[in-house]
Amino acid sequence: ATPTALMVGTGRGAQLGILLKGPEVLESTRRADTVVLDKTGTVTTGVMTLTAVHLADGVPRQQALRLAGALEHSSEHPIARAIAEAAQAAEPSGTLPAPEDFANVPGLGVQGIVEGHAVLVGRERLLHDWSQQLPPELVTAKEEAEAAGRTAVAVGWDGEARGVLVVSDAVKPTSAEAVARLRALGLTPVLLTGDNKAVAEAVAAEVGIDEVIAEVLPEDKVAVIARLQSEGRSVAMVGDGVNDAAALATADLGLAMGTGTDAAIEAGDLTLVRGDLRAAADAIRLARATLGTIR
Ligand code: ADP
Ligand code: MG
Repeated sequence: ATPTALMVGTGRGAQLGILLKGPEVLESTRRADTVVLDKTGTVTTGVMTLTAVHLADGVPRQQALRLAGALEHSSEHPIARAIAEAAQAAEPSGTLPAPEDFANVPGLGVQGIVEGHAVLVGRERLLHDWSQQLPPELVTAKEEAEAAGRTAVAVGWDGEARGVLVVSDAVKPTSAEAVARLRALGLTPVLLTGDNKAVAEAVAAEVGIDEVIAEVLPEDKVAVIARLQSEGRSVAMVGDGVNDAAALATADLGLAMGTGTDAAIEAGDLTLVRGDLRAAADAIRLARATLGTIR
């Protein structure tokens, strides 16, 4: 490609809300044949709200919300924000107690001490790691919420799983059109998420994706990208979270949502400034147009 063509391509990208790390990025953009999409914050808005609370017999709702909310207040995760906000609203004083020994367990949840109770909030698997089992009626509540496409996390304290908190997140209004445009350009879309399989499949169906890889821990997202590459695919990955940074760096082309975290933006080759997934299709088209004319 001539320097002038590359400059024109880069300038046109900026107009479309696409920032390239450098002109060399156009080549990997042109070549991509598979596009891996992170779910939360990429295909969905990532803005969640607490929609239901299911508790074991005799557990006071406000205590469950206070203990879970106090921990989640220290987490940046979209699920955490929804829970902390609802818990704060349920407190007469409007403030939540400060946790001690807070720890974020990436891809699983949070843990810490609140008002003397050892509290866990997150995937059922996190509670299982501490030998806490949800009672059967809560397992049912969780499964029903997930089948309806909602995300359900468990809360436990003092050695017992005691509740299920249901949050929901909406698919971005532009996601289905973006997927259709990527397909029209010949790319195969794949949905990748740490979230539950049922939720992931509901979202995939809503936007028109057939291939779903769910319940993947943040550190394993890289292995998923590497596996697709080993099948001979040229992989573009679109993500927004700290959790996506390593996968964005491993992919042949990393596209970061401009509305996402700094870690994702730094790891990506290209930024979709407006956080609109349709710009991913624009980027592919632009790269093909820029390099295609001069090959
Ligand atoms: P995604 O890949 O969709 O962005 P994550 O890898 O961030 O999802 O999280 C995977 C799962 O881990 C979530 O769906 C949730 O069940 C659990 N989880 C992660 N962080 C938290 C948290 N702060 N509170 C509760 N659950 C959490
Ligand atoms: Mg995300």
